[in-house]
Amino acid sequence: MSKIDNIMKDLVIANRILANEDVVDAYGHVSIRHPDKPNHFFLSRSLAPELVEFEDIVEFGMDGEPVRDEKRPLYLERFIHAGILEARPDVMAVVHAHAEDILPFGIATDTPLRPVIHSGSFIGANVPVWDISENFGDTNVLVSNMAQARDLAKKLGGNNVALMSAHGFASAAKSLIEVVRMSVYLPRNARILQNAKTLGGEIRYLSQGEIDARNRGYSPYSTETWRTWEFWANKCGCGKLLNRPDGGPIYVHEHKHK
Ligand SMILES: [Zn+2]
Repeated sequence: MSKIDNIMKDLVIANRILANEDVVDAYGHVSIRHPDKPNHFFLSRSLAPELVEFEDIVEFGMDGEPVRDEKRPLYLERFIHAGILEARPDVMAVVHAHAEDILPFGIATDTPLRPVIHSGSFIGANVPVWDISENFGDTNVLVSNMAQARDLAKKLGGNNVALMSAHGFASAAKSLIEVVRMSVYLPRNARILQNAKTLGGEIRYLSQGEIDARNRGYSPYSTETWRTWEFWANKCGCGKLLNRPDGGPIYVHEHKHK
């Protein structure tokens, strides 16, 4: 298996995990930058992430268009990935999703979404909210061109997550494993924060020191990080696609248990 084949397999796993963990439904998508051509990235053709297979993955350029002839329909919002990957050379993978638990925080903008649980620390202390109407007026609220995608990327800045008002979120990370984990815990952190607020009183947010301590020494193939990826991949029936470049052990379930 070539390096690119393994990256495509990882992208299939990422799609299936995000679907199985209810981060995406029929909509939403995940991309990874080409390891050898930084101005290219991989993203599925227009398809529900649950259904994505190896052959559905398409290679795109930074204009959000496929680099080869492609007759199959593509995601309307593929520009999100191009815009963020273009603006952030440090980012290797991007997720866009409409997970319902984060949506209140993109609408009630006086209440910022901040990390409150240890597994939510990776979203970072600051989660900006991007509102497409600020610069583009009345639209269908979808990111359908590069100008809108670049505006979103500008709002994201150097942060890990931007909420998209009345729409969803975009998250960005240095690895596919990291962006998937962050995107799974982002809605959970939002749900817990909202639940805590219903109890009333002061909210205990994670401190910057706690966030920094959790980020320290982070590696996508550390025992702790690999554990979630391996678990979620097996849980969605993708154990057989698992591969790890560090040659570490891989646990594959004999049966799919869904
Ligand atoms: Zn969307």
